Amino acid sequence: MIQLASRLNRIKPSPSSMAGQRARELRAQGRDIVGLTAGEPDFETPEHIKEAATRAMAAGKTRYTDVGGTPELREAVSQKLKAENGLDYGVNEIIVGTGAKQVIFNALMCTLEAGDEVIVPAPYWVSYPDIALLADGVPVFVDCPEAKGFKLQPEDLERAITARTRWLVLNSPNNPSGATYTRDELVALAQVLKRHPHVWVMTDDIYEHLIYDGRAFATIAQAAPELKDRTLTINGVSKAYAMTGWRIGYGAGPAALVKAMVKLQSQSTSGASSIGQAAAVAALAGPQDFIAVNRGVFQQRRDTVVSALNKIDGIRCHAPEGAFYVFASCEALFGLRTPGGARIATSDDWIMHLLDAQNLAALQGSAYGVPTHFRLSFAASTEQLLEGCRRIAQAREQLSR
Ligand code: PLP
Repeated sequence: MIQLASRLNRIKPSPSSMAGQRARELRAQGRDIVGLTAGEPDFETPEHIKEAATRAMAAGKTRYTDVGGTPELREAVSQKLKAENGLDYGVNEIIVGTGAKQVIFNALMCTLEAGDEVIVPAPYWVSYPDIALLADGVPVFVDCPEAKGFKLQPEDLERAITARTRWLVLNSPNNPSGATYTRDELVALAQVLKRHPHVWVMTDDIYEHLIYDGRAFATIAQAAPELKDRTLTINGVSKAYAMTGWRIGYGAGPAALVKAMVKLQSQSTSGASSIGQAAAVAALAGPQDFIAVNRGVFQQRRDTVVSALNKIDGIRCHAPEGAFYVFASCEALFGLRTPGGARIATSDDWIMHLLDAQNLAALQGSAYGVPTHFRLSFAASTEQLLEGCRRIAQAREQLSR
């Protein structure tokens, strides 16, 4: 039998990938599954981006590229960061990777020694703690309760920092809660970080453009320029440009860190796909008007789901400020029983009941560090969303004391 490395025991498979796979398996068995687990837009990649990829292939851009990304893409990222975020980064301070996830992986692998701590505000995207664990680090979770808008409070950050802290991970808009930090809130966190010069900040801005109700996006290197020399700003084309399968993400930070990440990448992926990078140039440098159109669609869907969920007895759902998930509380259902007699004690039980009784696939909050909540993606059609909420209401009615 194959003997696997012990580091693999520290991590679990991505719950969202597993849930998607389970929904596909159940569909293949003939069950009428409504899946609201997707972590990707349901829109197609815009035509002009696909055409850029076709042109790149025709022009023979089918070879290895520079490990850290093509000069064209790094230049496009540099210009994007300047124009949209007011940030100055040269091409030697930018790395392109196989998705934002690869960039996060590179950064933690390059910087963590065994036992080094990574502060992860909860709720969190499932991959931060597991990547930290793979890199021999220790995730330190800090609760960000719903009453505080699911946002990290400066005093809680202060309490979590130790001599072993290497990174604070920020993610705004947040997956799964949608919490989106204002500029002032970032400045308040920066005040704490200024007292702890050994702590670096990794900010995952992948949902930057999916932000609702006219809110302005802010990122910490811009809000607190004095932290720029210890900030890694991560972003990508997956969500805003509906390009999840192209696998292109990027990071911008101090040249020495970027150089180390490129070295690591040279011995892992050798860099992102040449065709994907050409497409990403077209995404970043081309027309941006469809982003606002998609944002409007997402906002309407958000309102539809939030209003439908809040009509269900025992479910409480705040309106997320950004991203495309609702993170609703099902805590009031704990203690109730399914028709089969099983007791709902956690959101895992609730999610199982939704799938078993109503063929509705959602994700348990425990995967995101908050077992009282569950996540639904609203990257789905309005009909699917309404049908999903109808099934959730029926699943609720099937529970009794
Ligand atoms: N960061 C967050 C917060 C995400 O939710 C996701 C995808 O779900 C990613 C990063 C991954 O992005 P990419 O597709 O660029 O690897």
